[in-house]
Order: sequence, then structure tokens, then C-alpha cells
Amino acid sequence: MAVELASKKPVLIWNKTFETMERNELKKVQLERLKSLVERAYHNVPFYRNKFQEAGIVPEDIKSLEDIHKLPFTSKYDLRDNYPFGMFAVPMEQIVRLHASSGTTGKPVVGAYTRNDLALWGEVMARTYTSGGVTAKDVVHNAYGYGLFTGGLGFHCGAERVGATTIPISGGQSEKQIMLLQDFEATVLGSTPSYSLVLAETMDQLGVSKGDLKLRVGFFGAEPWTEKMRVEIEERLGLEAFDIYGLTEIIGPGVAVVCPYHDGLHIFEDHFYPEIVDPETGEPLPEGSVGELVFTSLTKEAFPVLRFRTRDRTRLMYEQCRCGRTMVRMEKITGRTDDMLIIRGVNVFPSQIEEKIIGQEGIEPQYAIYVTTNEKRLDDLEVQVEASDKLYNQGKEAIDGVAQKLTNSIFQTLGINVKVTIKDPRTIARSEGKAKRVFDLRKSE
Ligand code: ADP
Ligand code: ZN
Repeated sequence: MAVELASKKPVLIWNKTFETMERNELKKVQLERLKSLVERAYHNVPFYRNKFQEAGIVPEDIKSLEDIHKLPFTSKYDLRDNYPFGMFAVPMEQIVRLHASSGTTGKPVVGAYTRNDLALWGEVMARTYTSGGVTAKDVVHNAYGYGLFTGGLGFHCGAERVGATTIPISGGQSEKQIMLLQDFEATVLGSTPSYSLVLAETMDQLGVSKGDLKLRVGFFGAEPWTEKMRVEIEERLGLEAFDIYGLTEIIGPGVAVVCPYHDGLHIFEDHFYPEIVDPETGEPLPEGSVGELVFTSLTKEAFPVLRFRTRDRTRLMYEQCRCGRTMVRMEKITGRTDDMLIIRGVNVFPSQIEEKIIGQEGIEPQYAIYVTTNEKRLDDLEVQVEASDKLYNQGKEAIDGVAQKLTNSIFQTLGINVKVTIKDPRTIARSEGKAKRVFDLRKSE
């Protein structure tokens, strides 16, 4: 029996059977699915068969969920080495869709879907929307980019599954977006957190206030964003902001989402099995530790992944949530293991800097971080932020004052001196999709 479900917030659940399944039952389902996955991967993907042979294991060695630790990891490099179709477990004629990650350097990661995989995607995205209280009565304004990026079509299929009216606007053309938000009376927004702030800024420029919109909830993800950013977005757009997590390697959006309690993201672990490992050694860490998130896709057909190293840092929480879901929660992702900057020996996560910037009076929630090496071969970190129109009009003295304040507050947290540059209004590049905010120029030297 599940623990008391005395929820004080209205909670809607799409798939009660699985989302509130008793954990021992869930484990049985996971084990059964894991065994079948291992068989499929071993027999249909030469890459996995070779890895099993190197590790000296066969599918029959997986007898319990703990045995998952015997399986080899899969890394982003493995996927690149097998580009484009080497990881697929079914013949091409069964594959009905391909997607790809942005792959800013080198070849992208290719995701493949059978009909059943697309149905699964619709299911987990329907769970996602429902977690935010979305029903067939809602109108969904989907500003995630359509195309190879999984965001657009992932959000699309879930909205249709719950029966909401779906507006496939995609990213960009911000003024038109504001017009349609008003005219079509959307109640739900989907976009990257950074693009939602571009929309908020466009509203300001057009003299449209949040009271002119009907937005009630928004689903934001695809990039790290802080709690401060959440408050800012909620305040400016007049909605409740839900954090949503996913990645191309696992399915796209729809891997995990917060519930109305906003205390961690529930992972749909009947399909995506999570582990936390030490990012250095790969050893599994004790329950509750912060480490690197690893996923095994239990049910995907075209592109199954075993123990994929996401490089995302988080912690898993197995305690029952007040919403009634039994699915494990992961803490908000504040960065990737490879996002961490080492500045003169000090570990710095960009999110720690974002925490200081958002909400600071006089500046906009836009920033860029530059890391360089100076003539003494020491690391320098520059934080560029943008003055609000008000601060800009107050002149140099006021601007210098804000810069000093920000320098001090970053020093207090990180213990390092950074150079804060306050740029003129609207001079930091805005993004329609995922924002690029960190420029580590040391790597190219
Ligand atoms: P790429 O960024 O390579 O184009 P993806 O779209 O698959 O490919 O990106 C997935 C990554 O985006 C995740 O591994 C994670 O680092 C980041 N991400 C996705 N959603 C969130 C979120 N809600 N919070 C923080 N990071 C996120
Ligand atoms: Zn919950």
C-alpha cells in the first residue's frame, strides 16, 4: 500500500498504474524489462555484443536489478564512433523517425524511433503535461524548435496525446509569438528557459503585460536554469514554471518532470532506469549521493542504450512524494560534470554565478562568462551582464556601483575575484533555443 496520499495541491496523474506503482512491483517490472533489453541489445547490436564479450558476460548473467552494475557503460564517444546508424537494434524499415542532437562539435548524436517508440514518447510526454495539470481543455503554445532537435516534436506529441489544442509555433519571430499568445489565448507555454525570457522582454517592448495573456503553466528545460531564474520567469510571464528534463540519447524531453510540489523531478523509471555513479571512477554511489546520472532505456526498440553516462550531476531521492507518485525524484540539474570550470584551482559552476546575477537590481537576466589566460599564465574569469534601461540612464557612477556589488557578491560565494563588465542594454546575444553562455577560451590556446 502506498503511504498516505493526503495531497494539499490539486494533483493530476496520467498513468496511475505505473506512476503510483508500489516500489516492489515496480522493481519486478524493471527487472523483466531489463532482461529483455539486454537480450535485444546483445543479439541485435554488434557494439553491445563486443562490449559484453570484453567484459566476459552474457545476457543470462543479469538475474537481479543490482546485476546492472555488471553491464558496461555507454558514452557519448561510443555513440559518435557508431555514427550514424551503428547503435540501432532494428532494421531501418522499422524505424519511422530520426532526430539528432545539436552536436556543436563534430558529428551529432542520432536518435531513432520505431512506431512503438513514438507511442512511448507520447506517453511519457502526456505524463509530463499532466504533472503540470494540463488537460484537453488547454491550449499549448509550443516554442521549442521543430526540426532535428527533439524539443519541438517531443512537446508536440505529448500535447496531442492529452488532447490539448497544439500550436506548433517553434522558436523565433518573437513579436509574432506575443501576438499569437494573445489571439489564440494559450494557457500553456513550452520553451527553453532562456527563450521564455526573450518572450518576456519582447512583451515589455510591445507594451504587453502578463495580464494580457492567459498563460497558466510553462514547461522549461533542455538547459540548466536556477531557482532564481524560475522565480523571474514566473513573475514576468504570470505562470507556474515546471522543470522538465530529457536528452536525445534517452528519448528527448519526457525523461523526468517536477510535480506541483517542485521538490525534484520524477523520473519515469518504468522506462528509464537511473543510477548515480562517481564521475571519476564510474563506481555506483550510495543512495542519496550527488554524482553523475546514468540511464538505461528499458523499453526503447530502435535505439536502446545501456548505462548511458549523461555527464549531468544530480542526486536521487527515493522517499515517497506528497503528490502520490512513487517514481524516484532527481534533484534539479545545476550543471554537467564537464561544465565545471577550474579557475586558479577553484571549482566554479556557471549556475553559481547565475544565482548571483538573476534578481540583482539594475541588470537584466542575461549573461556571458569568458575564461581566458593572462600574460602570467593565470586564469581570468570575466562575467558580462547587461544594464537595464533604467540603470543605463543613471550613468557611469551607478553602473560602476552595481558592478562592484556583483563582484563582491560573487567573491563571497566563490572566493575568487572576477571581472564584472556591465554592457549596454540589449547587447548580449539572445537565444531562440539553448543558450550558450560560457566561453572557455583557454581550451583553444
Ligand atoms: P544537445 O544539448 O547535445 O543538443 P540534448 O538536447 O539531448 O542534446 O541535451 C540534453 C542535455 O540538456 C542534458 O544531458 C542536460 O545536460 C541538458 N538538460 C536538459 N534538460 C535540462 C534541465 N531541465 N535542466 C538542466 N539541464 C537540462
Ligand atoms: Zn511528486
